[in-house]
Amino acid sequence: MVAHGIQLKKSEQLRAMRKAGLAVGRTLAAMREAAQPGVTTAELDAIAREHIATAGGISSFLGYGAGWGYPPFPGTICASVNDVVVHGIPSEQKLASGDLISIDFGMSIDGWHGDSAVTVEVGEVSAEAAELSRVTQQSMWAGVAAVRVGRRIGDVSAAIQASLESHERSYGILSDYTGHGIGTEMHQDPDVPNVGRRGKGPLIQSGLVIAIEPMVTLGSPVTATLDDDWTVVSVDHSIAAHWEHTVAVTKRGLWVLTAEDGGEQMLAELGVPFAPLAD
Ligand code: MG
Ligand code: MG
Repeated sequence: MVAHGIQLKKSEQLRAMRKAGLAVGRTLAAMREAAQPGVTTAELDAIAREHIATAGGISSFLGYGAGWGYPPFPGTICASVNDVVVHGIPSEQKLASGDLISIDFGMSIDGWHGDSAVTVEVGEVSAEAAELSRVTQQSMWAGVAAVRVGRRIGDVSAAIQASLESHERSYGILSDYTGHGIGTEMHQDPDVPNVGRRGKGPLIQSGLVIAIEPMVTLGSPVTATLDDDWTVVSVDHSIAAHWEHTVAVTKRGLWVLTAEDGGEQMLAELGVPFAPLAD
């Protein structure tokens, strides 16, 4: 069903999305393990390609943008190292101890997409970089915890923003890139901004699936896109982090489709009902 441009999923469609989400989560776990000093981001991309083939999936990223005047994205992951905030292209660049890399990955299975991102500390990173990743991940979960039938997208945005603004140190919260609805396409309505006001924006209805993905820097939230038309860097070259999960909401609660445990542990900690659907 599509209501005001928003695709609401039925139970069997949520089960199909879980299949894709779980495959995405497991692939990211494998890449996270592999992201060691000396490994190239192209090698991480190769791991993703293997997992897509094994799962019988299709990359959501490879070739993305073709037809809208962008060069088709050449990777199956976005590998964004240090001051690259998002959309970094996998390359022969070797990871080094101290790098902070965000890996963003999506695939579809049977036409249903999953989309998730993790930030990984390569070797020993600075305390500041580790803290940046931690607070970014925490803000993602604060956004997840705000998702409830009857609330509005602005409640999710405001929760992410409030979480990031609750620290003594200030962080750069990107506002020119957002989370999004997801289903039979990777990017659907509604946009899910990382800053916003409670009570504003589209209504959250049962069957909504959204990708929640704060992108945060240690400095300026202003970004620039490199000449490859993809790589987004912070203008002040401050280090960035990015965490993302695909989350389904029903009247009974939440199902974090891209978390290996469906979100069970974190939702329990956050006091939010965990509502997976049985096979
Ligand atoms: Mg993503
Ligand atoms: Mg996304």
